[in-house]
Amino acid sequence: MTADGLPPLREVIARHGLAAKKSLGQNFLLDLNLTAKVARAAGNLDGATILEVGPGPGGLTRALLMAGAARIIAVERDERCLEALAEIATHYPGQLEVVNGDALETDFASLAPQAYGAVRIVANLPYNIGTELLVRWLTPENWPPFYASMTLMFQREVAQRIVACPGDKAYGRLGVLAGWRTKAKIAFDLPPQAFTPPPKVTSSVVHIVPRAEPLAVDGKRLTEITEAAFGQRRKMLRQSLKSLGGEALLARAGIDATRRAETLSVAEFVALANAA
Ligand code: SAM
Repeated sequence: MTADGLPPLREVIARHGLAAKKSLGQNFLLDLNLTAKVARAAGNLDGATILEVGPGPGGLTRALLMAGAARIIAVERDERCLEALAEIATHYPGQLEVVNGDALETDFASLAPQAYGAVRIVANLPYNIGTELLVRWLTPENWPPFYASMTLMFQREVAQRIVACPGDKAYGRLGVLAGWRTKAKIAFDLPPQAFTPPPKVTSSVVHIVPRAEPLAVDGKRLTEITEAAFGQRRKMLRQSLKSLGGEALLARAGIDATRRAETLSVAEFVALANAA
């Protein structure tokens, strides 16, 4: 038995036949010290309502419950994991609800309506859908969003793009969207060997907190401008933004047309989007 009185994760995996599937991005964290570290990165969880994506055999779920979470709603696509997760739900009556479904088809804002604005999203995300989910969570129409924070595991390279600032090699669409509406920081890295099976690359946990009053702009237009500007990141903006208004647009936003995308601050991208 382990600290929470449930069996060790290796035993759970063996008993339920949960051999990792690559197609589902399954790289499990089996060391409860490491899952506890991820839970700590989410801050004080006493009484918190948490949305988790991809609980798998439940290592992070268990750490979140041990850290004091009052309620977890976890969306898992792999039916094979449901029995193992049901054992955790039985151990913590009334605290864990598992939704068997695809996170990309899930309306997360409606999963815990009574905790709107206070929910924490915590997940060791499947890498194939991590960026897509993050962009959705960063670009809802209404702000502040349904969550109070997000603590998410990404490949390190993606994490660096999320926290990147102007001038950084990794600065691009993700850095602009994250910088616009949130404050994001890398909490810590985990080497491939921390996971079973080990992925090819290092992973990082990113902690993201919404800004109360981000600059006003249409998210779709900001995305469009940013994608066009970084789509040709070595070119001057008058060239890369040609199809969106080029020099005239840049003049309206008060931005020198000979600059390149990587030199623009988030506020300057917002000015461009608002001038479009
Ligand atoms: N939370 C576990 C851990 O830390 O050990 C597992 C993390 S593993 C990186 C990703 C999990 O997401 C797997 O359990 C996988 O089955 C699940 N998953 C993959 N695609 C999904 C999807 N579209 N919707 C919901 N869950 C998904």
